[in-house]
Amino acid sequence: MKPIGRFAPSPSGRMHTGNVFSALLAYLSIRSRGGTLLLRIEDLDPDRCRTEYADAVKRDLDWLGLHWDREQALQSTRTEAYAACFEDLRERGLVYPCYCSRASLHAASAPHASDGRIVYPGTCRSLQEAPAGAKKPAQRLIVPDREISLSDGLQGEYTENLARDCGDFIIRRADGVYAYQLAATCDDAAGGVTEVTRGRDILPSTPGQIYLQELFSWGRPHYNHVPLLIDESGRRLSKRDGDLDLGALRERFTAPELLGRLAWAAGILPAYTPATAEELTSVFDWSKVRRKDIVIRPFFV
Ligand code: GLU
Repeated sequence: MKPIGRFAPSPSGRMHTGNVFSALLAYLSIRSRGGTLLLRIEDLDPDRCRTEYADAVKRDLDWLGLHWDREQALQSTRTEAYAACFEDLRERGLVYPCYCSRASLHAASAPHASDGRIVYPGTCRSLQEAPAGAKKPAQRLIVPDREISLSDGLQGEYTENLARDCGDFIIRRADGVYAYQLAATCDDAAGGVTEVTRGRDILPSTPGQIYLQELFSWGRPHYNHVPLLIDESGRRLSKRDGDLDLGALRERFTAPELLGRLAWAAGILPAYTPATAEELTSVFDWSKVRRKDIVIRPFFV
């Protein structure tokens, strides 16, 4: 069966090199096996996402030659589908309201997972009623106390016990917005996605997504969590590194010059040479791709 993959950018700013790097690998993995590629604009967060950024993401992907076959519905238009999943979980008694603020969780010095996330201690799980004067609650999913493992294409075996390493996680925010975990899992299933290629920073969210897939009897995609692009001090590149966002890079490079550098950084090309997305497809193989995070600036001088 031909694979179905996706790009799932959040339109909260111009894409930066790290986003392009993940998109390139998602593209090459699918195209090299004749599969189908979906584009999903993850515009869940109304405070951070803007239509003009979504348009810029599409124009940039087009300019790069990273073409997709089909666009999935905007997440901002999928509330009913997420609500249906949410109600199903609530009817099964797997959801409860949580009145804790981020500040109170920090103050209570809840245990932290190895990646710095707060492990939710279950404070509100057995509340019988809302505390007096409480604001609107977030909604959390009760997670099981057992190990969930995946065999990641790049990062190898990865195991988490959600109860120990994550705690009950939010599936609907206090402002009513469905959480990324629920929305992305629901959309991957709706699109029949069989392969997810994305940044290594999202690996710790994956066991939660797998748990949701299990609850709904959805298939589990194959995962490839790709290395992060970092600076010399080991810090992950972000939107702050404006010189490496696509606005700045498009002024310095043509699309083949930019893709050639990223493919060289990834290990797909042994040395720098300009290359189109199509040309890279014919030489792509996951076995060439680096596993460790990549200090990116040297590839751009
Ligand atoms: N929207 C996320 C991002 O832009 C990606 C989520 C995913 O690929 O599951 O970082």
